[in-house]
Amino acid sequence: MTHNFGAGPCILPQEVFKQAANAVLDFTDGLSVLEISHRSAEFEAVIEEARKLLTELMNVPDGYSVLFLQGGASLQFAMVPLNLLGDGQTASYLDTGVWSTKAIKEAKLVGNVNVVDSSKDQNYNFIPKNFEIPADSAYFHFTSNNTIYGTELVDFPKTEVPLVCDMSSDILSSVVDVSKFGIIYAGAQKNIGPAGLTIAIVKDDLLGKIDRKIPSMLNYKAHADAGSMYNTPPVFSIYVAMLNLRWLKAKGGVAEIEKENKQKSEALYREIDRNPLFKGTCKIEDRSRMNVCFVMENSELEKPFLKYAESEGILGIKGHRSVGGFRASLYNALPITSVHSLIEAMQVFEEKQLAAH
Ligand SMILES: *Cc1c(COP(=O)(O)O)cnc(C)c1O
Repeated sequence: MTHNFGAGPCILPQEVFKQAANAVLDFTDGLSVLEISHRSAEFEAVIEEARKLLTELMNVPDGYSVLFLQGGASLQFAMVPLNLLGDGQTASYLDTGVWSTKAIKEAKLVGNVNVVDSSKDQNYNFIPKNFEIPADSAYFHFTSNNTIYGTELVDFPKTEVPLVCDMSSDILSSVVDVSKFGIIYAGAQKNIGPAGLTIAIVKDDLLGKIDRKIPSMLNYKAHADAGSMYNTPPVFSIYVAMLNLRWLKAKGGVAEIEKENKQKSEALYREIDRNPLFKGTCKIEDRSRMNVCFVMENSELEKPFLKYAESEGILGIKGHRSVGGFRASLYNALPITSVHSLIEAMQVFEEKQLAAH
């Protein structure tokens, strides 16, 4: 039995893996899903179902386009300013980690950027609050979940400025009011499907407002007008994402998975706070429900614990190099039994330590 706590690409439901494997061998009329035309009726039905499921699961209102793109969240860092930040305008950004920093870097290539606040000098272990968003900002960009540092912003800023959010690592993990956003984007490989697909949910009336010639592949409007078929879309990734969205719907949707995600993260944080060997790395009020970061009081025990955990089938918990220690990613498809196994490993390791002294 293995437990995959990897940060991304990450665990998907076992039944989705099986269905995807079957479709590689025989999707329709003996043809593999890898060899069908993206213009075939069969694939048209897949992309349509994926769009419908995402719209339904996230309750996307009318007036938004749900786009299936490529290039990862990292290309969105550039597409957002190219499409929304006009000459002479300023975009506001909140700096909460590596991904925000990269988004800021790309935006600066396009126009003026105002960083409203940053938690960099505390190694991003909290989310800044009480910052001001200038009312004339073209948009306000933030990262809802900081995958590397294990912080999550759940109280979205209240402002008239259009909100643009990188939701790569917590999309579909809790209920979000899409109508409050201008653009939500996410690389698929953390809660949606395989790598190679990027989701963007774009409010249509934000588009076409600025005076810039945008290459078609970087232009949201070109993709929206073409129904995400401007060029060959990532057929297999969209197919597997569709399977995963079906799985999520059958589970009861986002509100249901949110309850499970809460239980999973609360159980693990409880153990981190109880177990004298471990401690969390972030401000408690900003703790992420998706990526749980923690270290050991005695850092010399980190290697032995990692080894012990691996011997118990607990994989992918090594922390990112910029935080160290451990990071357990608790994405939607990770069963609570895996969290219980990690907690048990922490407890057994604690007992062994006590016995040794
Ligand atoms: C993983 C991640 C990214 C990078 O995504 P790519 O799809 O690899 O470009 C960006 N933002 C966040 C919050 C992430 O977790």
